[in-house]
Amino acid sequence: MRALKADLHVHSTHSDGLDPVELVLESALEKGLDVISITDHNTFAGSKAAAKYIKEKGLDLVLIYGNEVRAHYLGKLFDVLILCPEYPGEDWPREALRLYDWAEKRNCLYIPAHPFDERRYGCGKLLYDIDSHAIEVWNARAPKLLNEEALRVAKELGKPGVANSDAHEAKQVATAFSVIEAEPEAEAILEAIVKGRVKIHKGNVKATDYVRYVGRKLIRRAGRGLYK
Ligand SMILES: [Zn+2]
Repeated sequence: MRALKADLHVHSTHSDGLDPVELVLESALEKGLDVISITDHNTFAGSKAAAKYIKEKGLDLVLIYGNEVRAHYLGKLFDVLILCPEYPGEDWPREALRLYDWAEKRNCLYIPAHPFDERRYGCGKLLYDIDSHAIEVWNARAPKLLNEEALRVAKELGKPGVANSDAHEAKQVATAFSVIEAEPEAEAILEAIVKGRVKIHKGNVKATDYVRYVGRKLIRRAGRGLYK
């Protein structure tokens, strides 16, 4: 078994990320990641593109198919990372309980994202009521206090925790990450998370990186406005 460095929450231009999948993957290799999931909002398309690129270039990276689904439960909207061993199609439901069942049937993991960062669609106290395979206890873009709360509740519930960057540009990949003890193969990696063979490495997006990101985002938005 190996200790695999993994970032399982990353965005690309398939949703609101600023960099294409290719740049994100090259950055992952530069940062020494062994495992990555591209978790664009409400689509597995980023992961699908990543799988193609990894295969074409023969990159030494294990891809976990991912999607950050905006789920709903009792009128509340919240984000869940759905991580799958293979491409599961795009017929996933948004209702939280049905989504959990859908994930289970496909050996995918259901991991509430930045649960106490409720301004960014964290599930908050619903964490106590909904099923989950693990919890994102550290998100590099969430305030530290809210990450600490997620850590505390995961411990209380006896759930494994993962740490992720939630990168929206290639440079931010692996700002926070997990180390998973498993063979370098998607199914084994997901199983190891559920069994708790995972350690988190905390980190936060640096203020200077964040300022550059916001600038790039504004420029992109302005560009879109011009060419609409
Ligand atoms: Zn995200």
